[in-house]
Amino acid sequence: MEQINKRRAADIEIKQSTILIVDDDISNVRLMASLLEEDYDVKIATTGSQCVSLAVKHQPDLILLDIMLPDVSGFDACKVLKSVEETNEIPVIFVTGLIEIGDEEEGFKVGAVDYITKPVNSVILRARINTHLTLKKQNDLLREMAIRDPLTGLFNRHSMADISDRMVSRSARHQTPLSALMIDIDLFKNINDTHGHLVGDQVIQEVARILKQQFRREDMIARYGGEEFLVVMELCELRQAMIKAEKVRLVIKDSMINTLKVTVSIGVAQLSAEDHNYESLVARADTALYQAKEGGRNQSVAYTKDMSMPGAE
Ligand code: GH3
Ligand code: MG
Ligand code: MG
Repeated sequence: MEQINKRRAADIEIKQSTILIVDDDISNVRLMASLLEEDYDVKIATTGSQCVSLAVKHQPDLILLDIMLPDVSGFDACKVLKSVEETNEIPVIFVTGLIEIGDEEEGFKVGAVDYITKPVNSVILRARINTHLTLKKQNDLLREMAIRDPLTGLFNRHSMADISDRMVSRSARHQTPLSALMIDIDLFKNINDTHGHLVGDQVIQEVARILKQQFRREDMIARYGGEEFLVVMELCELRQAMIKAEKVRLVIKDSMINTLKVTVSIGVAQLSAEDHNYESLVARADTALYQAKEGGRNQSVAYTKDMSMPGAE
């Protein structure tokens, strides 16, 4: 596990950081760009509105923001960046000709992480950029580690609840279907007992890889428990969910994982009109999964009202 975390940290390290320079004075832009181009992917905006649109588009790791801009002030641009979900985590450093202490205070008040006055000293600029990029990387990594399962890279149970809650509300609001699959590896304990825990882990990873490959990007996949996975699909009715479940079950069954034959059982449920609630959806998928196990495993079962609840485990 530790090794996987390290690898993920390294992945983030390798990616070149992107810096968005926002300044309407072209000579200033040129100067800063020439200082930074060698080490970073540099993007340029010359107005406040361009700053916001490019920030959303390129998701820079850092923004160097002038205050005197032709359309809105840099303070206002920063406020907008901080209020939009897509950009609110991007650190902003003001780089400005305004040297009054009140301006600097205002800069921090609107959410900047640093304030540098012009003329820019190249050593100080680089050092401060470096500090904030490092902090940003560490924050990104911590956030990722909090929402992902380290063994598989899938969402963990906790973050899945947050994400699915939102999906369920959306589906209730728009009256669109939403379905869940609870997928559990059959007789997994035997694999561990016969081949060891390490092989067991590899089987879990391989099943996760197949799930990532089989579902759409919009579908949310989580490692729900040890050898149990939950998939939530928006705009998906029970019938389609069952077709998907069967396809995935067959793909897993037909793939030799570490020269082992691995099968899964799948419980399928659709969010019902009466209870727009993530927990009850999961409980019903779980009940259907229990039926699939009872029915002899290696099968998908759709939840029906006559199944007694709660039944699983
Ligand atoms: P069933 O077909 O009824 O699901 O049987 P099962 O053996 O898969 O189910 P059971 O719940 O009895 O056993 C699950 C096992 O999964 C027990 C636990 O030791 C193992 N397990 C849980 N998490 C991990 C993990 O991260 N790695 C490995 N290798 N094993 C795990
Ligand atoms: Mg199992
Ligand atoms: Mg289980």
